Parts: sequence; C-alpha cells; structure tokens
Amino acid sequence: MSKRMPLANLIDGRLQPAAGAGVLDVHEPATGQVFAQCPASTREDVDCAIAAARRAAPAWANTPVEERAHLLARLADLVEAELESLAALESRDNGKPVHVARSVDIPRAIANLRFFASAIMQWASESHSGRSGSINITLRQPLGVVGCISPWNLPLYLFTWKIAPALAAGNTVVAKPSEITPCTAARLGELSIAAGFPAGVLNIVHGTGPEVGQAMVESPLVKAISFTGSTMTGSAIAQTAAPMFKKLSLEMGGKNPAIVFEDFDFNEASLATIVRSGFANQGEICLCGSRLLVQRSIYARFRERYLEKVRALSVGDPQDDRSDLGALVSRAHFDKVMKAIGKAREEGGKISCGGNPVRPGGRCAEGWFVEPTVIEGLESGSATNQQEIFGPVVSLMPFEDDEDAIRIANDTEYGLAASLWTNDLGRAQRLSSRLDFGIVWINCWMNRDLRTPFGGVKNSGIGREGGVDALRFFTEPKNICIESR
Ligand code: NAD
Repeated sequence: MSKRMPLANLIDGRLQPAAGAGVLDVHEPATGQVFAQCPASTREDVDCAIAAARRAAPAWANTPVEERAHLLARLADLVEAELESLAALESRDNGKPVHVARSVDIPRAIANLRFFASAIMQWASESHSGRSGSINITLRQPLGVVGCISPWNLPLYLFTWKIAPALAAGNTVVAKPSEITPCTAARLGELSIAAGFPAGVLNIVHGTGPEVGQAMVESPLVKAISFTGSTMTGSAIAQTAAPMFKKLSLEMGGKNPAIVFEDFDFNEASLATIVRSGFANQGEICLCGSRLLVQRSIYARFRERYLEKVRALSVGDPQDDRSDLGALVSRAHFDKVMKAIGKAREEGGKISCGGNPVRPGGRCAEGWFVEPTVIEGLESGSATNQQEIFGPVVSLMPFEDDEDAIRIANDTEYGLAASLWTNDLGRAQRLSSRLDFGIVWINCWMNRDLRTPFGGVKNSGIGREGGVDALRFFTEPKNICIESR
C-alpha cells in the first residue's frame, strides 16, 4: 500500500487530528487511488474550534488594521513561495491540469489574500453631517466568529476568497474546505502558523458537510455563514440558519448562457474563449457557459468552427502540460456527468462530439476522465438544458433574434453569469440589463476584477462577494449619532 499523506485540523493554533481519530480517504482523480487522509471531524472538533475562535475574537477585532493586513500579506508571500508545490498538490487533489492550478488557482489565491490585505487599509467608516450640526457615524464592526464553507472545484482559490475578507474585517474564522479536496487548505493552515497569525484567529476543520458544516451552521456562536457550493446544500443551510437570523451569503449553482449573435467576429481569440468558457477546469466552474446559444443565421458556420476546436482539446494526465482537460473530481461526479450525457441521449439530443469516458492509460488507467461533449437538438425546457451538470458538457441551441435569445437565456432557475458575443454595443447594452444574471460579460468570460460584486440571482445565490461587498458582509454597521450642544 502506498503511503497516504496525513492532513490535520488547525484548531487554536495547533495542528491536530479529529478528536475521535476518524479519517476520510482523499482520492487522486487521475488515478482513482487514495493518496491522502483528512480528519473526519465531528461536532466536538467544531465546538473546540468555535471556542478557540471566540477566545481570540476580542483581541483580533482590536488588532490594528495595519497588523491584520501585514499578516495576510505575509501569508500571501508564503503561498507564493510554494506556488509550484501547491499547484502540484491542487492538481493531484482535484484532477485539474497542473498548468491550470499554476496559472489560475494558486495565483488567484495569492491575489485574494493580497487584495483584502490592501482593501482593509483603504476602507473607512462613513460619517454624515446633518443640518442641525449633528454628525452620524456608521461604524463597521466585526461580527465575531464567522463560518466559511467552500467547494471542491477551485479549492484554495475559493477558500481564500472567503477567509481573507473575514479576517481582514477583524473576525475570527472557523473554515471548512471540501472533504473531497482538502489538501491545499490544510497546507494553508500550516502556512498561517508560519505567517504569525495568533492562535484561534483562523481555524480549519476538515470533515463532511452533514457533520462539520452542519455543526457550524447550527451553532448560535457562529454569527455568519459564507457558503459556496450547490443550490441543494445552500437551501439546507438556509433552512437551519435563517430562523436563527444568522447572516448568510450563499454562492450556488449555475446554468449559464453564452450568447453568440450574427455580428460575432469569428476571430481565433474569441472562439478560443468561448470554447474555454465551456470546458475550462473540465467544465467544473460555476461560471461555465454550459448553454451555448447561437443565432440561426450563423449557426452552421459557427458550429463547424466550434466543433473543430472542441475536438482538438486533449484530455489526459493532469501532470502533462499538454492536457487541456484533466480528470473529474470524484467517481461519484464522473457517474453523475455520464448519467447526464445518457439523459441527453434519452431526451433525443444528438451528441455532436465526445460523450464517452476517456482512458488515458499508464498511471491514469483507472482515472475519471470524460471527453469534452457537445449536444445539439434539445429544447430549452429539457433536463439537459435545465439541470446543472458541472462537467465538460455544452448544449448548443439556435435562436432567431434578440427577443428569442433573452427568452431562452432567462429560461432557467439559475442566474449566475451570462456572456454576450456581439460587436453591436447598442445591442449589448440593451440586452445586458434584461438578462436575469448577477454577472454579464460582453465579448469576454471570467474576466474578474476583485473590486466588483460577485454573485448570482434566483437559485444561484443571495448576497455578493468581492470588494467592499465582502467587507460589508463580514461587518455589522452601527449608526452613532452625535448632536452638537
Ligand atoms: P456541495 O454543496 O456538495 O458542497 C459544498 C461545501 O458544503 C462542502 O464543503 C461540503 O462539505 C459542504 N456541505 C455539504 N452539506 C452541508 C451541510 N448540510 N451543511 C453545511 N455544509 C455542507 O457542493 P460541491 O459539490 O462541493 O461544489 C459544486 C457546486 O458548487 C456546484 O453546484 C457549483 O455550481 C457550486 N459553485 C458555486 C460557485 C459560486 O460562486 N456561485 C463557485 C463554485 C462552485
């Protein structure tokens, strides 16, 4: 049996196993083999972490912002110093190509930490002077102990996207990474000790959602939950937390449209971005354009160029820099994606490319790989076009005109991100305001400025992350009114 990397919780500044000594196996998706074990923590561990975070909260809230910013920036430096090994670890844990982890995931985790280290230094309480000489000050105070729960698709990237603003704003944190991809968060915990964070300020508890996540959500001592994951889990969290009047930020699923109009400029870069918007990270990004709407007048021409590019994508060993797509994150997710492709066939969809598992051979012979798949011929109301698949599967649909495009694009329970491809600025402006999505990209995709509000509408979420929205979420405003005498 090969050696399994042991991962630890970080509670009260100490790395430790679960109190009950239970462990969960962590698989390498490319090989299907277990390569690490994380603590199978229980409520007891969560309670210890919350108690540690409570003890640390008053001092951390009173720590000058300069010092909080300094520690976050130092943590960013330590992550950057390990960029290569963290990228390798992320790739091994998640199945994504190592070049993606190296160029996207880990740099973005560093950027998140640096961004909020800087943002907190620029943030100020507001004050309003009144006509009668009174002054209103809006103090923004930390909440105390907050909970951060993150998913498996962009493990360190989304973990830092939550804990960085929470810590910057003066909260102490109990954080739970996905039990499917816990490795880089565990390493971040070790680095946070090296960076000099005081004990109890950042606690990382590994384990399953129903056990660890649920205990965090149920605790009245955790004042807010920032969650990213599926709509089903988000709904379960809301059912527990909303009656407790807990602050909630829920970033959930998507079924995003990419809309290509007849005036689309068929250049290589745009086509490459549209392909990437469907298949980047094996399609396991909440922002992926899984419904590709193409105006009928250019459908045949577009389809030909598009399919040619999708067929050219290579699926293979994530360690190989020539692989465009790596493995899907787990056996269960592989089965879910293959089932969705089967459902598309049953519904009468035509598989225009892909549709099958891939067996790259060698060390990846038992891995969970799927061909990039394009489906045509299904109505907007079909299960394929309504349910989130979260894999390398894109459904291609024709539309007639602007009204038809808006109708199909909005015909979903989700509302995370849409992208429009057009050279007509008037059309872009007119239509973007009518799209029921939290983010609309014009002639681009996943172009992220960390200062902008990030989040969805409808079943994609409530609340916004990013920039001052995240700092607002992690603080409570208090109005202090001073009347002059
Ligand atoms: P998931 O909902 O299964 O799990 C997300 C996290 O919640 C994990 O850490 C899990 O352990 C935890 N969890 C599960 N049950 C819980 C419970 N009862 N209480 C508290 N926590 C619980 O999601 P996933 O499969 O890890 O991630 C994929 C999903 O995430 C997709 O639907 C995707 O669209 C979504 N996602 C959304 C965004 C966004 O920003 N909107 C970003 C990335 C992923």
